[in-house]
Amino acid sequence: MLLARLVDRLEKAFHKPAPQQNPDPQGHGNPETAIAGLTQGAVIVIVGGGLSGSAFARKILTLCRKTGKKTRVYLVNSTGCNYCGGLITDLARETMRNLYELHAPHDVILNKVSDCIFINREGSAEISLTTPMLTTLRTSRFGITGFDDSLKARILEGIEDMEPWLTIIEPTLVRQIIPLAEPGGQGPESGPKWRVVLSIKKDNGCYEELDAHVLVLATGFRSLGKPMLNDFQELTGYIPPPVMEGSVTEVDTSTAKHNLIADHMLVIDGLVEGAVLAFIPKGKSWLTLTTLGKQLTPGELDRVFAHPQVKKYLDLPHPSKNLRCRMICPAKLFTGSAQNFYGDGWVMLGDLTGYGRVLKDGVYASFLHAHLAAEAMCYHGATKEAFARFYHQPLREFEQDNQVGMLLFRINTHLNRRSWFNKLFIMAAENERKKSPQGAAMHAGIRGLMTGRIPYGLIGVFFIIGLISFMVRHPLKALKTANPFR
Ligand SMILES: Cc1cc2nc3c(=O)[nH]c(=O)nc-3n(C[C@H](O)[C@H](O)[C@H](O)COP(=O)(O)OP(=O)(O)OC[C@H]3O[C@@H](n4cnc5c(N)ncnc54)[C@H](O)[C@@H]3O)c2cc1C
Repeated sequence: MLLARLVDRLEKAFHKPAPQQNPDPQGHGNPETAIAGLTQGAVIVIVGGGLSGSAFARKILTLCRKTGKKTRVYLVNSTGCNYCGGLITDLARETMRNLYELHAPHDVILNKVSDCIFINREGSAEISLTTPMLTTLRTSRFGITGFDDSLKARILEGIEDMEPWLTIIEPTLVRQIIPLAEPGGQGPESGPKWRVVLSIKKDNGCYEELDAHVLVLATGFRSLGKPMLNDFQELTGYIPPPVMEGSVTEVDTSTAKHNLIADHMLVIDGLVEGAVLAFIPKGKSWLTLTTLGKQLTPGELDRVFAHPQVKKYLDLPHPSKNLRCRMICPAKLFTGSAQNFYGDGWVMLGDLTGYGRVLKDGVYASFLHAHLAAEAMCYHGATKEAFARFYHQPLREFEQDNQVGMLLFRINTHLNRRSWFNKLFIMAAENERKKSPQGAAMHAGIRGLMTGRIPYGLIGVFFIIGLISFMVRHPLKALKTANPFR
C-alpha cells in the first residue's frame, strides 16, 4: 500500500500538463524582443497539409488576425494516407483545446480506449488508463472522416473573416523548391525568397508556381528521399532525424471466432523479435495494427494472431487475408532530433524535426510545433535567430528524455527474448493488480508509456521498483518461476 501511494504521488508530481496559450508571446514586454515580427503583406507557403501543416495554418491566421497583419497563406497538400495508429492521447486533446480552441468532433471518434492489455510470450496483464484515449482514422477512408482532414476543414472555425487570406491547394504535390536569386526578407518590400513549383500544369505546359517570402515544410516522413526534399537538404544543410522502421495496417475482424477486444488496446511485446505491436480498436470488427521496430511481414502477422496469448482475446483465422487496405504499409518513426531544420525565411514542422516524444504521440508534437513556430514567426520574424530562440529552444526539453526512451526500448528488446524476464514482468504486474485495480509501479510504468504524461526516466524507475519489490516480497515465487539460471 505504501508503494502504491508513493507511485501515485510520483505519477501526479511528474504529470506533464498540456501547454497553455502564452500570455506574453512578444517576449515578456521586453522592447528589444517585442519587434515587429512578420512583415505586412508577406506570403507564406505551407507545404504539407497533415496535422502540423493544418495546425500551423490555423495558428498563423489566428495570430495575424489578432495583430492585424495582412499575411497571405497557401497550404499545398498532396493526398495519400497519413498512416498512423490514430490514437489521440488526453495530452494531445488538451493541447488542441488550449492552443487551437478546437475539440475532437464526435464523428471522427471511433472508439475510446480505457484499458491496455500488455502481452508478452509468457502471459498478459491488464492495465487501467486514468483517462481514456480516443481512436480515430487520420485520413478519411472507408466513408469515415479522418482526424487530419477534419482539422483541415476547420482551419477557419471561429476566424471565418480570415477566409480571403487562406488558399488550400489540394491534391497537389510540390515538385521543387527553388531559392530566388536575390533572396529578400519576410515582406513584399524585399521580394519573395522562394519559388514553389506545383505538379499542376498550366495551358502552356509549364508547372504552376507560387512565390513565397516564408516557406513552411510539413511533409512528414513520406517525403524523405524524394527529389524535392533531397534538393532542399542540399540547399539548406537540413539533416533529417534518425529513424526506426515501423508499419501499419487495418485488420477486418468480422470473421473472428471470438473477439474480446472491445475498448481494450493490446500491446504485444516481443512476439515478433525486435518489435512492439499495438492492436488499436476502431469499429466493432476492425482494428489498426501498428508495429514499432520493424516492418511486419504477412507471415509474421499470421504468427502473432496464432499465438495463444493473443488468441485468448481475439481468434481470427488468416488475418493477412483480412486486411482492409490489402497491404501492410511501411512507416518510419523518429528516434532522435533533426539538425538545421529552420533558417532565414523557412522552418520545418512535425516529424521532419524529430522533436517530440520518441515512439509516442506525434499528434501532440505536431500541435506544439505549429504553435511555437507560428508565434515565433508572427511576433519575432521568420528569421533563423527567432526560430532558434522561440521555437527550437522550448523543444529541447525532449532531447534528454528521448535518449532514455530509446535506451529503455533497446534494453527491453534485449530482455524480452528471455523467458524469465517475460514471466517476471507479467507476474509483478499481475500481483500489483490483485491488490488494487490501478496497480502500483509496474502499472504506472506501462500507463506512462501509453499516455505520454510522465518522462521516460520515471517510467524506467517505475519498472525497476516494480520488479525489485515483487522479488523482495515473493522471493521464492520469483526464483521458482523466473530463475535466470534454469
Ligand atoms: C506506425 C506509426 C503509428 C503511429 N501512431 C501514432 C498514434 O497512434 N498517435 C500519434 O499521436 N502519433 C502516431 N504516429 C506519429 C504520427 O503519425 C506523426 O507524428 C504525425 O503524422 C506527423 O505529422 P506531420 O504533419 O509531420 O506529417 P504527416 O502526417 O505525414 O503529413 C504530411 C502531409 O504532407 C503531404 N505531403 C508530403 N509530401 C508532399 C509534397 N511534396 N507536396 C505536398 N504535400 C506533401 C502528405 O500528403 C501529408 O498530408 C505514428 C507513426 C507511425 C509511423
